[in-house]
Amino acid sequence: SSRIAARVQRIKPSPSSAAADRANELRRQGHSIVNLVVGEPDFDTPAHIRQAAWEAIQRGETRYTNNSGTVELRQAIAAKLVRENGLSYGLDEIIVTSGAKSAIYTVLAATLEPGDEVIIPAPYWVSYPDMVLACDGRPVTVPCPESDGFKLTVERLRSAITPCTRWLMLNSPSNPTGASYTADEYRALADLLLEHPQVMLMTDDIYEHIRYDDSDNPHILNIEPGFRDRTVLINGVSKTYAMTGWRIGYAAASADLVAAFNTLQSQSSGNTCSVSQAAAVAALEGDQSFVSESREVYRQRRDRTLESINAISGLSCAAPSGAFYLYVDCADLLGRRTPAGKLLADDTDVVMYLLENAGVAVVAGTAYGLSPYFRMSIASSQQVLDEGCARIAAAVDALI
Ligand code: PLP
Repeated sequence: SSRIAARVQRIKPSPSSAAADRANELRRQGHSIVNLVVGEPDFDTPAHIRQAAWEAIQRGETRYTNNSGTVELRQAIAAKLVRENGLSYGLDEIIVTSGAKSAIYTVLAATLEPGDEVIIPAPYWVSYPDMVLACDGRPVTVPCPESDGFKLTVERLRSAITPCTRWLMLNSPSNPTGASYTADEYRALADLLLEHPQVMLMTDDIYEHIRYDDSDNPHILNIEPGFRDRTVLINGVSKTYAMTGWRIGYAAASADLVAAFNTLQSQSSGNTCSVSQAAAVAALEGDQSFVSESREVYRQRRDRTLESINAISGLSCAAPSGAFYLYVDCADLLGRRTPAGKLLADDTDVVMYLLENAGVAVVAGTAYGLSPYFRMSIASSQQVLDEGCARIAAAVDALI
């Protein structure tokens, strides 16, 4: 009998981590690799945030905090939710977690019964289905093709809902496509969800500030405030403030749900890092200029990289309205052969070819549940992105 539990045997390591490991391995062997895998800002955490962490250490804030996070941080989160989202939450309706990732896991672990279904629009963030599986739930992935803007339509949602549906996961702007829902689209989805009160909503808002269109940025709770009781809002400081390593995320929901998340967290990880919490207070309450400045840099990179990719015959990519990825359509490369004669049958073959022959690391669309595509991160310097595009162009050109 296996020493490993079935819930772990059901899941796999994150494909983006696996791709990053492979790229690093090739680099160690001496190959020149342009790594466009990582989903994290290449910027340093702003200085005033680092300073706040240093000061917290000097003040001796190096001990356990409240399991749900310090009062100061939960107050800063509550103020942020009012200021930026027009949503009001009390301190007992907020839990601070070790990154948004841990928030999502805790919510699923605290609510799913075996066999409960979780609707996940595809392409999705790679961790959603495996987290559901690890919590004994059933991921119900719903392909949302590019012709629908990679977004869930009312028709597709309707056919996915069953009496066993427990959660609908929404991620806007989305990783990997950058797709963002408009107020009208949320309204239409909300009207359908009103007919299905058993379906709870999890909104992953982690990319909310990395947006390139000037339209307003509604939360579905702004559109349908009546959903407050059945919604868990997930967010964090990782992407907005270039704080991926600090591990601060949070969930906001009604007090009974947050009490359950707290119980589970108190018996698993406990509170997240005290020093990081002090840094997150400075991030949320301090000077916000980094947010708009970094967004402008991402926008320039997006525009230029998009132009380079779309200039390559055989590849095409629609402009993402948010997040920092391009989700590149590589359907036209399938059926062609590499210079060594190997047939490119799917997007995994394309990604392997780009890695082994051109030294460019990207992630195959199959990891995100919609093929044939690959995801490239634009959270790298323009120089790295230009080199990556040049290598991809040459590699595509060399196909037979
Ligand atoms: N949600 C999405 C859609 C993400 O892309 C990521 C990180 O890649 C996360 C959540 C996790 O963020 P954190 O670093 O706060 O755990």
